[in-house]
Amino acid sequence: MVEPALFLVHYHEIALKGRNRRHFEQILAQRLRDALGPDARVNLLHGRILVEVPGRWAEAVQDGLGRVFGVAYFARVQRLPVDFEKIAQAALARLGDFAGSFRVSVKRANKRLPFTSPEAERQIGALIVAATGWPVRLRGADVEIFVEFYENKAWLYTSLDRTPGPGGLPVGASGKVVVLASGGIDSPVAAWRVAKRGARPVYVHFHSYPHTSLDSLRKTEAEIEILSRWHGPAKLYVVPLAGIQEEIFAKSPERYRTLLYRRFMYRIAARIAGWEKAGALVTGDALGQVASQTLENMRAVQEAVDMLVLRPLVGMDKTEVIAEAQAIGTYDISIQPQQDCCSFLEPKRPATKSTPEQLRKVEAKLDVKGLVEQALERAERRWIGNEPDTRISER
Ligand code: ATP
Ligand code: MG
Repeated sequence: MVEPALFLVHYHEIALKGRNRRHFEQILAQRLRDALGPDARVNLLHGRILVEVPGRWAEAVQDGLGRVFGVAYFARVQRLPVDFEKIAQAALARLGDFAGSFRVSVKRANKRLPFTSPEAERQIGALIVAATGWPVRLRGADVEIFVEFYENKAWLYTSLDRTPGPGGLPVGASGKVVVLASGGIDSPVAAWRVAKRGARPVYVHFHSYPHTSLDSLRKTEAEIEILSRWHGPAKLYVVPLAGIQEEIFAKSPERYRTLLYRRFMYRIAARIAGWEKAGALVTGDALGQVASQTLENMRAVQEAVDMLVLRPLVGMDKTEVIAEAQAIGTYDISIQPQQDCCSFLEPKRPATKSTPEQLRKVEAKLDVKGLVEQALERAERRWIGNEPDTRISER
């Protein structure tokens, strides 16, 4: 019989959440099950999560665990009896041809064991010194040997086995958001950042078909496909903007066009947020990046909706956003050419400082409500990936 592969998953922040801790742990456990599939056994274990999978999967699991938000780090572990000799031997076998300074760090959740953590550290350490002559170094050791005692077993791993996870909070722990996804570089990074903080993203993409091609939609779908490897399957609403843009083009001053398109996007996204019970909109705006992203214009656009708008990239340079897009895996898709829906009928000299009053006055000539309704009626909804299991209640 092939030995199962065991992984001990560690989380940071969740442990700090006091009364909510249990709920966060359950969501994280569910996200691990979602990521690893039905054959993985995922169990809570005193401030850690134990993942057990068939041995041949070890590598795939290693990959998957690195993308589950809420995972601070994880390590493949060995389950041993509470026997210092066996633990020391197993540690040496695990370290192979390593030679250098070391320390043993013990964590003991089972308080009925007949030794304290420092005693266990000293005794296991002494056995390793006797076998190897390696120096013990409490600070800056070349390798740290971790032994954790739970449920009358010892769990062994070393600092060489530890792999960092993405950190953050498990998706679903912070509720839901509606992400305005353009197909460009920024919005996928914005989505990734809020998903990392535990928000489940629902995506909205606006296109100007037939005035522009559907390339931006295809790119958005491909980006969400990549993002779904991090946050799981996601819903995408596809909304036609062409009718609204034609009206704005016919009836509004050129310099305000982009901002008016944006106000309609926000209104439609806010309605979708209502359907989805989402708590905020998310955009890829960065302060000062383009004319529509000045302080004045961001405020003038935002004023169209009574809703929290999160802009996770607001303080980032483009080079920083690009580096993050590369790390997430969306960059190569994002840079493929597309006709932006807002390049359609884009003003030559866009207003850089508008006020809500100016935009409201211009909108008085438009049937704002009717246009929003029309666009929503034509909206299509689809899943990227399979529909997720939501048995664990999400807030
Ligand atoms: P991105 O790289 O995300 O396209 P950008 O720097 O090109 O951003 P803009 O095109 O001005 O900036 O868009 C700012 C934000 O507005 C985007 O990050 C996105 O959240 C939203 N947005 C713009 N166009 C669309 C669209 N067609 N569909 C949905 N959201 C959009
Ligand atoms: Mg764009």
